[in-house]
Amino acid sequence: MAKFWFITGSQFLYGEETIRQVEEDSKVIVDGLKLPFPVEYKLTAKTEAEIEKVVREANYDEECAGIITFCHTFSPSKMWINGLTLLQKPWLHLHTQFNETIPNEAIDMDYMNLHQSAHGDREHGFIGARLRAPRTVVAGYWKDPAVQEKIAQWQRAAVGAKFSRSLKIVRFGDNMREVAVTEGDKVEAQIKLGWQVNTWAVGDLVQEMHKVTEAEIDALMAEYAKLYTFEEKDTEAIRYQAREEIAIEKILVREGAMAFSNTFQDLHGMKQLPGLASQHLMHKGYGFGAEGDWKTAGMTAIIKAMYPDGATSFMEDYTYDYKHELILGSHMLEVCPSIAADKPRIEVHHLGIGGKEDPARIVFEGKAGKAKAISLIDIGGRLRLISQDVTCEKPFQDMPNLPVARTMWRPEPSFLDGLTCWIIAGGAHHTVLSYEITTQAVHDFAAIMGIELVVIDKDTKPYTLERDLMLGDVIYARR
Ligand code: MN
Repeated sequence: MAKFWFITGSQFLYGEETIRQVEEDSKVIVDGLKLPFPVEYKLTAKTEAEIEKVVREANYDEECAGIITFCHTFSPSKMWINGLTLLQKPWLHLHTQFNETIPNEAIDMDYMNLHQSAHGDREHGFIGARLRAPRTVVAGYWKDPAVQEKIAQWQRAAVGAKFSRSLKIVRFGDNMREVAVTEGDKVEAQIKLGWQVNTWAVGDLVQEMHKVTEAEIDALMAEYAKLYTFEEKDTEAIRYQAREEIAIEKILVREGAMAFSNTFQDLHGMKQLPGLASQHLMHKGYGFGAEGDWKTAGMTAIIKAMYPDGATSFMEDYTYDYKHELILGSHMLEVCPSIAADKPRIEVHHLGIGGKEDPARIVFEGKAGKAKAISLIDIGGRLRLISQDVTCEKPFQDMPNLPVARTMWRPEPSFLDGLTCWIIAGGAHHTVLSYEITTQAVHDFAAIMGIELVVIDKDTKPYTLERDLMLGDVIYARR
């Protein structure tokens, strides 16, 4: 379980009584934070040695996913330099104040000495800026739900970062031949994101499939029956997908991996492309990328870890409707049922690509709502994370001859400018579609990992974006 540490800054100048009050107030603040992950009050730091010690402890604590700092009084921040220089965990500077308003009668010099976040937090902010330290700054009254929501989103990004740094991705087979955007520097991905991306032979997967028992398949079929509807006549094809799912998951568990990729061009010894198998594994929290796309597999797994009960799926932009200004998103088979509007069905249909038997797949329509399309690309010399605001809509027609999971969405800032911006930024056709993730959480995650972020939202303009990307080339060339 991830935990966060709360460290208050102060000093000895105002006497013991003030420090005691600072400590009490800090505990009240920590108790008042209603967040997805617990926050633990650690100490009121008054010396360089105390700060260095607590940072070292945070770095080595398995559960600590980040630190939150706040300076209740004036805290000279030179005492924070050595500690913050050593810090290896995400940092949030909470620029708050114990009281919401300035009390007319109670305010005197003692009150001023105790309540000077507007003063001490600026010193603290300066040292963060001076160190060029990656941090998230949240300003506002700590009881305000909007302020707490910002802390919550940072927590999710920090949890995503923690998950990322231990993420293993199993690749069954290589990339789809000749495809560019799904390629990338796996060494760079491990340096920046911590991902261990390695390959496993499809032959080993097939051997594992042979070892799956009928009883194991029966148990998984019972689970399918609870979640999805299907017809008796399709049982045999569905049981084959269950066999594939069980074998894939056994390898993932054995390797400690939370994401995988495969490719229809390398299914030697397998009768069906894993459709239902990949979809149900995604539903359980595993990341998936088709055609060898380990980058989208990794990001899918991370966003699922950030929002465990959220609607998050591997996705692909397929076809446009210029008249309705909508993108049809789908895949050959592999879309996660967590984004389904209604109870999904399992169906078996012919698949023209791959030359295998008709695969069972989960079919549904994606739900309506605000979401983000997220793409991680290797732009050469650096990783770029692209996040585009989109609005998903119920498909306006039933498309009876397209028996796959599908959804439709309109990108920001407008349909055509949204497409233009995506193309300018180099975004892939594969994305992670997530309904819960916020721009702040994507930003905080990119900042923690030290990778480039491109946000395409209602305010983005193609020409300004082009200039930002050129500036990015200059910034990253200097690093
Ligand atoms: Mn694809």
